[in-house]
Amino acid sequence: MTPAEFKKFVQLLDAFPEVGPRQSWRLFFWLIKQDEKFKSELIELMTTLKTKVKFCSDCFFPTLNQDRCDICNDQKRDHALICLVERETDIITFESIKKFNGVYFILGGLILPFEEKGIVRSRLKKIKERLEKSLDVKEVLIALPLTKEAEPTFVEVIRVLNQFKNRIKITKLRRGLPAGAEVEFLDPETLTEAFLDRR
Ligand SMILES: [Zn+2]
Repeated sequence: MTPAEFKKFVQLLDAFPEVGPRQSWRLFFWLIKQDEKFKSELIELMTTLKTKVKFCSDCFFPTLNQDRCDICNDQKRDHALICLVERETDIITFESIKKFNGVYFILGGLILPFEEKGIVRSRLKKIKERLEKSLDVKEVLIALPLTKEAEPTFVEVIRVLNQFKNRIKITKLRRGLPAGAEVEFLDPETLTEAFLDRR
C-alpha cells in the first residue's frame, strides 16, 4: 500500500531535529499536495544547498560560495568584539535585536559527557588560532546557554580564553537572565539588556 519511496522520504523527514514519526508522515502528506511551483522551488533550493553551501572560515556561519560570511566581511562591524555562541540560530537572534555590532564565532555545540563532541574541540582550537592571529581583538563575549548542561563547555572555553587575558577582556551576558536561559529563546528586550550589561 505504501510505496518504498514514500517510506524513504518519511525516513528523511524523521531525521530532522525535533520531528517525530507521526509528524514526518503529516509533513509528507502535506508536501505531496503542494503545487508544482512549490516543489520546483524546493528542489532548486535543495540543489543550491547541496552544491554551494560553505562555512565561513572565521565564524563558521554558512555562506553561499563565499569563504567568509557577510558579517565577517563587513568592515563597518567591530572586529575587536567577538561573540561566542553555541549555534547558528543564536546569531539570527543576536542580529534581530540590532544592538550588537561585533562579529561572531560558532562553537557548534556543547561538550557533553558520554558524547564525543569532536566539533567543539576542533572549534576551540580554531578560536585559539584566530585570537593568536588577530591582535586587534579586545573582547570576547561568551553567550553560551546558562544551563547546567553547558557548564563543562564554559570551563573549557574560559580555559582557552584565559591564555589571552592580558590583552583580551572576557565577558558574559548579565542582567535579567534566568538560570537555564538560552540565547535563542530570549525575548529581544531581555537579550538587549543582558548584552548591554555584559561584564
Ligand atoms: Zn563569518
